[in-house]
Amino acid sequence: MGSKPQLYILDDDAQYAGLLVEVAAKYGWSVIAEQNAATFLSLDLTENFILVLDLHMPEIDGIEVIRALADKKANFLLILISGFDERVLHSAQQLAEAHKINVLASMVKPINIQRFVNILESIPMGGDQFSEKNLVATPSVTAEELQQAIQQHQLVLYYQPQLDMKTGELLGVEALVRWKHPELGLIFPGQFISLAERSDLIGVLTEEIINIAVAQSQKWQAMGFSTVISVNVSADNITSLSLPEQLITLTNKHEIAPEAFALEITETSVMEKLTSSLDVLNRLRMKGFSLSIDDFGTGYSSLTHLYQAPFRVLKIDQSFVMSMLEDKEAMVIVEVCIMLGKKMGMTLVAEGVETQEVWDKLRALGCDLAQGYLMAKPMPEDELIQWAKNRQ
Ligand code: C2E
Ligand code: CA
Ligand code: CA
Repeated sequence: MGSKPQLYILDDDAQYAGLLVEVAAKYGWSVIAEQNAATFLSLDLTENFILVLDLHMPEIDGIEVIRALADKKANFLLILISGFDERVLHSAQQLAEAHKINVLASMVKPINIQRFVNILESIPMGGDQFSEKNLVATPSVTAEELQQAIQQHQLVLYYQPQLDMKTGELLGVEALVRWKHPELGLIFPGQFISLAERSDLIGVLTEEIINIAVAQSQKWQAMGFSTVISVNVSADNITSLSLPEQLITLTNKHEIAPEAFALEITETSVMEKLTSSLDVLNRLRMKGFSLSIDDFGTGYSSLTHLYQAPFRVLKIDQSFVMSMLEDKEAMVIVEVCIMLGKKMGMTLVAEGVETQEVWDKLRALGCDLAQGYLMAKPMPEDELIQWAKNRQ
Protein backbone atom coordinates (compact mmCIF):
# COMPACT_ATOMS: atom_id res chain seq x y z
CA MET A 1 0.00 0.00 0.00
CA GLY A 2 1.42 3.37 -1.00
CA SER A 3 5.08 4.07 -1.73
CA LYS A 4 7.70 4.73 0.89
CA PRO A 5 7.93 8.33 2.10
CA GLN A 6 11.15 10.27 1.59
CA LEU A 7 13.84 9.44 4.13
CA TYR A 8 16.23 12.17 5.28
CA ILE A 9 19.36 11.68 7.28
CA LEU A 10 20.61 14.77 9.04
CA ASP A 11 24.00 14.17 10.60
CA ASP A 12 27.14 16.30 10.42
CA ASP A 13 29.23 13.12 10.48
CA ALA A 14 29.48 12.28 6.77
CA GLN A 15 30.83 8.80 7.39
CA TYR A 16 27.91 7.83 9.58
CA ALA A 17 25.38 9.39 7.27
CA GLY A 18 26.93 7.54 4.34
CA LEU A 19 26.58 4.23 6.10
CA LEU A 20 22.93 4.81 6.93
CA VAL A 21 22.22 5.94 3.37
CA GLU A 22 23.73 2.79 2.00
CA VAL A 23 21.71 0.55 4.31
CA ALA A 24 18.43 2.38 3.72
CA ALA A 25 18.91 2.41 -0.05
CA LYS A 26 19.45 -1.34 0.00
CA TYR A 27 15.99 -1.68 1.54
CA GLY A 28 14.37 0.40 -1.17
CA TRP A 29 14.23 3.81 0.48
CA SER A 30 14.68 7.00 -1.42
CA VAL A 31 17.16 8.68 0.90
CA ILE A 32 18.78 12.08 1.07
CA ALA A 33 21.64 12.78 3.46
CA GLU A 34 22.27 16.30 4.62
CA GLN A 35 25.09 17.51 6.85
CA ASN A 36 23.92 21.01 7.44
CA ALA A 37 20.73 21.70 9.41
CA ALA A 38 20.08 25.09 7.82
CA THR A 39 20.23 23.58 4.34
CA PHE A 40 17.91 20.80 5.40
CA LEU A 41 15.39 23.24 6.86
CA SER A 42 15.37 25.24 3.65
CA LEU A 43 14.14 22.21 1.68
CA ASP A 44 10.53 21.90 0.64
CA LEU A 45 9.21 19.69 3.43
CA THR A 46 5.50 19.73 2.68
CA GLU A 47 5.15 16.00 1.95
CA ASN A 48 5.19 13.33 4.67
CA PHE A 49 8.73 12.21 5.42
CA ILE A 50 10.92 10.27 7.83
CA LEU A 51 13.84 12.02 9.49
CA VAL A 52 16.86 10.41 11.09
CA LEU A 53 18.22 13.22 13.22
CA ASP A 54 21.55 13.49 14.99
CA LEU A 55 21.03 15.63 18.08
CA HIS A 56 24.58 16.85 18.28
CA MET A 57 25.51 19.07 15.37
CA PRO A 58 27.47 22.31 15.18
CA GLU A 59 25.59 25.60 14.64
CA ILE A 60 21.98 24.38 14.62
CA ASP A 61 21.55 21.39 16.90
CA GLY A 62 18.93 18.66 16.74
CA ILE A 63 16.72 20.26 19.37
CA GLU A 64 16.46 23.41 17.29
CA VAL A 65 15.64 21.34 14.23
CA ILE A 66 12.78 19.69 16.13
CA ARG A 67 11.45 23.05 17.18
CA ALA A 68 11.74 24.51 13.67
CA LEU A 69 9.93 21.53 12.14
CA ALA A 70 7.19 21.77 14.77
CA ASP A 71 6.74 25.44 13.91
CA LYS A 72 6.51 24.54 10.24
CA LYS A 73 3.88 21.96 11.14
CA ALA A 74 5.81 19.45 9.07
CA ASN A 75 4.36 15.93 8.86
CA PHE A 76 7.12 13.50 9.69
CA LEU A 77 8.25 10.60 11.79
CA LEU A 78 11.43 10.96 13.76
CA ILE A 79 14.32 8.65 14.53
CA LEU A 80 16.73 10.24 16.99
CA ILE A 81 20.41 9.44 17.22
CA SER A 82 22.97 10.77 19.61
CA GLY A 83 26.54 10.24 20.65
CA PHE A 84 25.48 11.12 24.19
CA ASP A 85 23.88 8.94 26.78
CA GLU A 86 20.29 7.75 26.92
CA ARG A 87 19.18 10.69 29.06
CA VAL A 88 19.81 13.23 26.34
CA LEU A 89 17.85 11.10 23.92
CA HIS A 90 15.07 10.68 26.42
CA SER A 91 14.63 14.39 26.99
CA ALA A 92 14.80 15.12 23.26
CA GLN A 93 12.13 12.50 22.75
CA GLN A 94 9.96 14.09 25.42
CA LEU A 95 10.37 17.44 23.76
CA ALA A 96 9.40 16.06 20.37
CA GLU A 97 6.38 14.31 21.84
CA ALA A 98 5.30 17.48 23.58
CA HIS A 99 5.16 18.94 20.08
CA LYS A 100 3.02 15.94 19.06
CA ILE A 101 5.80 14.63 16.86
CA ASN A 102 5.80 10.89 16.47
CA VAL A 103 9.17 9.49 17.57
CA LEU A 104 9.78 6.04 16.11
CA ALA A 105 12.97 5.27 17.97
CA SER A 106 16.04 6.70 19.69
CA MET A 107 19.46 5.21 19.11
CA VAL A 108 22.80 5.80 20.77
CA LYS A 109 25.93 5.81 18.60
CA PRO A 110 27.54 3.52 17.55
CA ILE A 111 24.32 2.50 15.87
CA ASN A 112 23.31 -1.10 15.67
CA ILE A 113 22.63 -1.47 11.95
CA GLN A 114 20.27 -4.40 12.36
CA ARG A 115 18.14 -2.33 14.73
CA PHE A 116 18.10 0.53 12.23
CA VAL A 117 16.90 -1.87 9.53
CA ASN A 118 14.21 -3.27 11.83
CA ILE A 119 12.93 0.20 12.57
CA LEU A 120 12.76 1.11 8.88
CA GLU A 121 11.06 -2.17 8.03
CA SER A 122 8.45 -1.69 10.74
CA ILE A 123 7.22 1.62 9.39
CA PRO A 124 3.71 1.00 8.12
CA MET A 125 2.90 2.48 4.72
CA GLY A 126 -0.14 4.73 4.40
CA GLY A 127 -0.69 8.02 6.16
CA ASP A 128 -2.13 7.12 9.56
CA GLN A 129 1.09 6.93 11.48
CA PHE A 130 1.92 10.57 10.89
CA SER A 131 1.17 12.85 13.80
CA GLU A 132 -2.48 13.70 14.15
CA LYS A 133 -1.89 17.20 15.35
CA ASN A 134 0.29 18.01 12.40
CA LEU A 135 -2.08 16.66 9.81
CA VAL A 136 -3.44 20.06 9.01
CA ALA A 137 -6.66 20.53 7.10
CA THR A 138 -7.87 17.45 5.29
CA PRO A 139 -7.64 18.15 1.56
CA SER A 140 -11.40 18.57 1.38
CA VAL A 141 -11.27 21.63 3.63
CA THR A 142 -10.06 24.86 2.08
CA ALA A 143 -9.56 28.37 3.44
CA GLU A 144 -12.52 29.54 1.33
CA GLU A 145 -14.77 26.92 2.87
CA LEU A 146 -13.61 27.82 6.34
CA GLN A 147 -14.22 31.49 5.70
CA GLN A 148 -17.75 30.68 4.51
CA ALA A 149 -18.32 28.44 7.50
CA ILE A 150 -17.40 31.27 9.85
CA GLN A 151 -19.73 33.67 8.05
CA GLN A 152 -22.55 31.12 8.06
CA HIS A 153 -22.05 30.43 11.77
CA GLN A 154 -21.17 26.77 11.34
CA LEU A 155 -18.65 26.96 14.18
CA VAL A 156 -19.98 25.84 17.54
CA LEU A 157 -18.47 25.62 20.99
CA TYR A 158 -18.20 22.56 23.17
CA TYR A 159 -17.50 23.09 26.85
CA GLN A 160 -15.26 21.01 29.09
CA PRO A 161 -15.62 21.34 32.88
CA GLN A 162 -12.78 22.42 35.14
CA LEU A 163 -13.24 21.19 38.69
CA ASP A 164 -11.92 22.35 42.03
CA MET A 165 -9.71 19.48 43.21
CA LYS A 166 -10.52 20.08 46.87
CA THR A 167 -14.31 20.36 46.68
CA GLY A 168 -15.18 18.85 43.32
CA GLU A 169 -17.08 22.04 42.51
CA LEU A 170 -17.42 23.18 38.89
CA LEU A 171 -15.35 26.37 38.68
CA GLY A 172 -15.18 26.97 34.98
CA VAL A 173 -15.37 25.55 31.49
CA GLU A 174 -12.98 25.64 28.56
CA ALA A 175 -14.67 26.49 25.27
CA LEU A 176 -13.39 24.28 22.44
CA VAL A 177 -14.40 25.00 18.88
CA ARG A 178 -15.95 22.45 16.51
CA TRP A 179 -17.06 22.94 12.95
CA LYS A 180 -20.48 21.55 12.20
CA HIS A 181 -19.94 20.84 8.54
CA PRO A 182 -23.17 20.24 6.61
CA GLU A 183 -21.70 17.23 4.75
CA LEU A 184 -18.59 16.14 6.64
CA GLY A 185 -20.13 16.26 10.11
CA LEU A 186 -18.21 17.46 13.15
CA ILE A 187 -14.68 18.65 12.37
CA PHE A 188 -12.18 19.08 15.21
CA PRO A 189 -9.96 22.12 15.71
CA GLY A 190 -6.81 20.13 14.91
CA GLN A 191 -8.03 20.12 11.35
CA PHE A 192 -8.71 23.80 10.80
CA ILE A 193 -7.06 26.05 13.42
CA SER A 194 -3.65 25.99 11.77
CA LEU A 195 -5.32 26.49 8.40
CA ALA A 196 -7.01 29.57 9.90
CA GLU A 197 -3.67 30.78 11.23
CA ARG A 198 -1.93 30.32 7.91
CA SER A 199 -4.65 31.92 5.84
CA ASP A 200 -5.27 35.02 7.94
CA LEU A 201 -8.67 33.81 9.07
CA ILE A 202 -7.73 33.48 12.72
CA GLY A 203 -8.86 37.04 13.47
CA VAL A 204 -12.42 36.48 12.27
CA LEU A 205 -12.49 32.96 13.71
CA THR A 206 -11.52 34.16 17.18
CA GLU A 207 -13.99 37.02 16.95
CA GLU A 208 -16.76 34.55 16.12
CA ILE A 209 -15.74 32.25 19.01
CA ILE A 210 -15.66 35.13 21.47
CA ASN A 211 -19.09 36.30 20.31
CA ILE A 212 -20.54 32.84 20.86
CA ALA A 213 -18.88 32.48 24.27
CA VAL A 214 -20.00 35.86 25.53
CA ALA A 215 -23.60 35.26 24.41
CA GLN A 216 -23.45 31.84 26.08
CA SER A 217 -22.17 33.35 29.29
CA GLN A 218 -25.04 35.84 29.35
CA LYS A 219 -27.55 33.08 28.71
CA TRP A 220 -26.16 30.92 31.51
CA GLN A 221 -26.09 33.85 33.88
CA ALA A 222 -29.78 34.45 33.21
CA MET A 223 -30.43 30.77 34.05
CA GLY A 224 -28.56 31.12 37.33
CA PHE A 225 -25.67 29.02 36.05
CA SER A 226 -22.64 31.21 36.44
CA THR A 227 -19.27 29.87 35.48
CA VAL A 228 -16.04 31.21 34.05
CA ILE A 229 -15.63 30.53 30.32
CA SER A 230 -12.08 30.17 28.99
CA VAL A 231 -11.53 30.79 25.30
CA ASN A 232 -8.43 29.84 23.32
CA VAL A 233 -6.67 32.57 21.39
CA SER A 234 -3.81 32.28 18.92
CA ALA A 235 -0.52 34.13 18.73
CA ASP A 236 -1.78 36.55 16.09
CA ASN A 237 -4.79 37.50 18.18
CA ILE A 238 -2.78 38.74 21.12
CA THR A 239 -0.89 41.29 19.08
CA SER A 240 -4.09 42.93 17.91
CA LEU A 241 -4.00 46.22 19.79
CA SER A 242 -7.75 46.69 19.66
CA LEU A 243 -8.51 43.35 21.35
CA PRO A 244 -8.86 44.67 24.94
CA GLU A 245 -11.28 47.41 23.88
CA GLN A 246 -13.27 45.07 21.63
CA LEU A 247 -13.63 42.59 24.44
CA ILE A 248 -14.68 45.08 27.06
CA THR A 249 -17.26 46.58 24.70
CA LEU A 250 -18.65 43.12 24.08
CA THR A 251 -18.81 42.03 27.72
CA ASN A 252 -20.42 45.35 28.67
CA LYS A 253 -23.01 44.93 25.97
CA HIS A 254 -23.89 41.47 27.25
CA GLU A 255 -23.73 42.61 30.86
CA ILE A 256 -21.19 40.04 31.95
CA ALA A 257 -18.27 40.75 34.23
CA PRO A 258 -14.81 40.52 32.63
CA GLU A 259 -13.90 38.21 35.53
CA ALA A 260 -16.27 35.60 34.06
CA PHE A 261 -14.14 35.49 30.97
CA ALA A 262 -10.67 34.00 30.57
CA LEU A 263 -8.31 33.84 27.62
CA GLU A 264 -5.98 30.88 27.14
CA ILE A 265 -2.78 31.57 25.30
CA THR A 266 -0.25 28.84 24.63
CA GLU A 267 3.21 29.27 26.04
CA THR A 268 4.60 28.97 22.52
CA SER A 269 2.47 31.85 21.17
CA VAL A 270 3.46 34.08 24.04
CA MET A 271 7.13 33.44 23.42
CA GLU A 272 6.73 33.98 19.70
CA LYS A 273 5.18 37.39 20.19
CA LEU A 274 6.50 38.34 23.59
CA THR A 275 7.31 42.00 23.22
CA SER A 276 4.39 42.83 20.98
CA SER A 277 1.91 40.96 23.15
CA LEU A 278 2.89 42.19 26.61
CA ASP A 279 1.11 45.47 26.01
CA VAL A 280 -2.13 43.74 24.98
CA LEU A 281 -1.89 41.15 27.76
CA ASN A 282 -1.37 43.79 30.42
CA ARG A 283 -4.30 45.85 29.19
CA LEU A 284 -6.54 42.78 29.13
CA ARG A 285 -5.51 41.99 32.68
CA MET A 286 -6.09 45.56 33.83
CA LYS A 287 -9.59 45.42 32.41
CA GLY A 288 -10.28 42.41 34.62
CA PHE A 289 -10.01 39.50 32.15
CA SER A 290 -8.29 36.42 33.45
CA LEU A 291 -5.31 35.15 31.44
CA SER A 292 -4.15 31.55 31.35
CA ILE A 293 -0.86 30.28 30.02
CA ASP A 294 -1.76 27.09 28.15
CA ASP A 295 0.25 23.95 27.35
CA PHE A 296 2.80 25.04 29.92
CA GLY A 297 6.04 23.09 29.79
CA THR A 298 6.09 22.67 26.02
CA GLY A 299 7.48 26.12 25.22
CA TYR A 300 10.69 27.78 26.22
CA SER A 301 9.68 30.61 28.49
CA SER A 302 12.13 31.64 31.12
CA LEU A 303 11.17 32.59 34.64
CA THR A 304 11.56 36.23 33.72
CA HIS A 305 9.04 35.93 30.93
CA LEU A 306 6.60 34.22 33.19
CA TYR A 307 7.10 36.98 35.71
CA GLN A 308 6.65 39.72 33.11
CA ALA A 309 3.43 38.43 31.60
CA PRO A 310 0.35 38.93 33.76
CA PHE A 311 -0.96 35.36 33.90
CA ARG A 312 -3.34 34.35 36.63
CA VAL A 313 -3.67 30.71 35.62
CA LEU A 314 -1.05 28.16 34.62
CA LYS A 315 -2.25 25.12 32.67
CA ILE A 316 0.12 22.18 32.84
CA ASP A 317 0.34 20.53 29.44
CA GLN A 318 -1.60 17.30 29.15
CA SER A 319 1.35 15.34 27.75
CA PHE A 320 3.03 15.55 31.16
CA VAL A 321 -0.14 14.92 33.13
CA MET A 322 -1.02 11.85 31.09
CA SER A 323 2.37 10.22 31.52
CA MET A 324 3.31 11.44 35.02
CA LEU A 325 2.75 8.09 36.72
CA GLU A 326 4.84 6.10 34.25
CA ASP A 327 7.49 8.65 33.42
CA LYS A 328 9.68 10.05 36.19
CA GLU A 329 10.68 13.12 34.22
CA ALA A 330 7.08 14.00 33.39
CA MET A 331 6.35 13.78 37.09
CA VAL A 332 9.21 16.13 37.88
CA ILE A 333 7.87 18.63 35.35
CA VAL A 334 4.41 18.47 36.88
CA GLU A 335 5.85 18.96 40.36
CA VAL A 336 7.99 21.88 39.28
CA CYS A 337 5.06 23.53 37.46
CA ILE A 338 2.92 23.28 40.58
CA MET A 339 5.63 24.66 42.81
CA LEU A 340 6.43 27.45 40.38
CA GLY A 341 2.80 28.41 39.86
CA LYS A 342 2.14 28.48 43.57
CA LYS A 343 5.16 30.64 44.33
CA MET A 344 4.02 33.05 41.67
CA GLY A 345 0.52 33.17 43.08
CA MET A 346 -1.09 31.51 40.08
CA THR A 347 -3.97 29.07 39.95
CA LEU A 348 -2.89 25.68 38.61
CA VAL A 349 -4.94 23.67 36.19
CA ALA A 350 -3.97 20.14 35.15
CA GLU A 351 -5.26 19.11 31.74
CA GLY A 352 -5.72 15.60 30.41
CA VAL A 353 -6.66 13.96 33.72
CA GLU A 354 -7.85 10.54 32.60
CA THR A 355 -7.54 8.32 35.68
CA GLN A 356 -8.39 8.42 39.35
CA GLU A 357 -4.74 7.69 40.20
CA VAL A 358 -3.57 10.80 38.37
CA TRP A 359 -6.31 12.85 40.05
CA ASP A 360 -5.25 11.61 43.49
CA LYS A 361 -1.60 12.35 42.87
CA LEU A 362 -2.27 15.85 41.52
CA ARG A 363 -4.49 16.58 44.47
CA ALA A 364 -1.80 15.47 46.86
CA LEU A 365 0.68 17.74 45.05
CA GLY A 366 -1.62 20.69 45.62
CA CYS A 367 -2.90 21.29 42.10
CA ASP A 368 -5.97 23.54 42.20
CA LEU A 369 -8.13 22.56 39.23
CA ALA A 370 -8.43 19.55 36.97
CA GLN A 371 -9.83 19.06 33.51
CA GLY A 372 -10.01 15.78 31.63
CA TYR A 373 -11.90 12.77 30.36
CA LEU A 374 -12.07 11.28 33.87
CA MET A 375 -14.59 13.95 34.81
CA ALA A 376 -16.05 14.91 31.44
CA LYS A 377 -15.36 15.30 27.74
CA PRO A 378 -16.10 18.60 26.01
CA MET A 379 -19.90 18.83 25.55
CA PRO A 380 -22.45 21.01 23.77
CA GLU A 381 -24.20 23.56 26.01
CA ASP A 382 -27.33 21.52 26.75
CA GLU A 383 -25.34 18.41 27.67
CA LEU A 384 -23.15 20.46 29.98
CA ILE A 385 -26.20 21.75 31.86
CA GLN A 386 -27.53 18.21 32.13
CA TRP A 387 -24.13 16.99 33.35
CA ALA A 388 -24.00 19.71 36.00
CA LYS A 389 -27.56 18.87 37.15
CA ASN A 390 -26.82 15.14 37.40
CA ARG A 391 -23.85 15.79 39.64
CA GLN A 392 -25.87 17.65 42.23
P1 C2E B 1 -6.05 22.67 24.15
O1 C2E B 1 -6.34 24.11 24.36
O2 C2E B 1 -4.86 22.11 24.82
O3 C2E B 1 -7.36 21.88 24.55
C1 C2E B 1 -7.39 20.65 25.18
C2 C2E B 1 -7.61 19.53 24.20
O4 C2E B 1 -7.48 18.30 24.89
C3 C2E B 1 -9.01 19.51 23.61
O5 C2E B 1 -8.91 18.98 22.29
C4 C2E B 1 -9.73 18.53 24.52
O6 C2E B 1 -10.85 17.94 23.92
C5 C2E B 1 -8.65 17.53 24.79
N1 C2E B 1 -8.81 16.85 26.08
C6 C2E B 1 -9.41 17.29 27.18
N2 C2E B 1 -9.33 16.40 28.19
C7 C2E B 1 -8.65 15.35 27.71
C8 C2E B 1 -8.22 14.09 28.28
O7 C2E B 1 -8.47 13.76 29.43
N3 C2E B 1 -7.52 13.27 27.47
C9 C2E B 1 -7.22 13.58 26.19
N4 C2E B 1 -6.54 12.71 25.47
N5 C2E B 1 -7.58 14.76 25.61
C10 C2E B 1 -8.29 15.63 26.37
P2 C2E B 1 -9.64 19.68 21.06
O8 C2E B 1 -10.98 20.16 21.46
O9 C2E B 1 -9.52 18.75 19.91
O10 C2E B 1 -8.75 20.96 20.81
C11 C2E B 1 -7.45 20.84 20.35
C12 C2E B 1 -6.74 22.16 20.36
O11 C2E B 1 -7.27 23.06 19.39
C13 C2E B 1 -6.84 22.89 21.69
O12 C2E B 1 -5.89 22.36 22.58
C14 C2E B 1 -6.54 24.31 21.27
O13 C2E B 1 -5.16 24.53 21.17
C15 C2E B 1 -7.13 24.36 19.87
N6 C2E B 1 -8.42 25.03 19.94
C16 C2E B 1 -9.62 24.53 20.32
N7 C2E B 1 -10.57 25.45 20.24
C17 C2E B 1 -9.97 26.60 19.81
C18 C2E B 1 -10.44 27.93 19.53
O14 C2E B 1 -11.61 28.28 19.70
N8 C2E B 1 -9.51 28.83 19.07
C19 C2E B 1 -8.20 28.49 18.92
N9 C2E B 1 -7.35 29.43 18.47
N10 C2E B 1 -7.73 27.26 19.17
C20 C2E B 1 -8.61 26.31 19.61
CA1 CA C 1 -6.62 25.50 25.89
CA1 CA D 1 -3.76 22.88 26.69
